[in-house]
Amino acid sequence: MRSPRRCSRNGCPRQAVATLTYVYNESTAVVGPLAAFAEPHTYDLCEPHARSLTAPRGWDVVRHEGEFEPPPPTTDDLVALAEAVREAARPAPRPPEPDQGHENPHQTGRRGHLRVIPPNH
Ligand SMILES: [Zn+2]
Repeated sequence: MRSPRRCSRNGCPRQAVATLTYVYNESTAVVGPLAAFAEPHTYDLCEPHARSLTAPRGWDVVRHEGEFEPPPPTTDDLVALAEAVREAARPAPRPPEPDQGHENPHQTGRRGHLRVIPPNH
């Protein structure tokens, strides 16, 4: 099981939603959606750090302008989500019990070990 990726900035506890890639031969820092795999010269960043990134002197910044989507939830997040949904559903009244399984013992059709033989057909 993988753990959520954290922002690579020192002391930053936030979840990474973007990946910063330094393209050295173009002197460009690219801030894009979170990369699926960590590669050399890439740094995961949280949204505030991704938005506030400034390029080193002489570098350009190319920034993804759309929303930064958080990565898919981990198993733990899914469990938490399922529990939240269950919690939210709890106040709903239970559906009424179906009215069955309460045969009147005095009107049962069973007659011991005998069974009804259907008429000739
Ligand atoms: Zn950060």
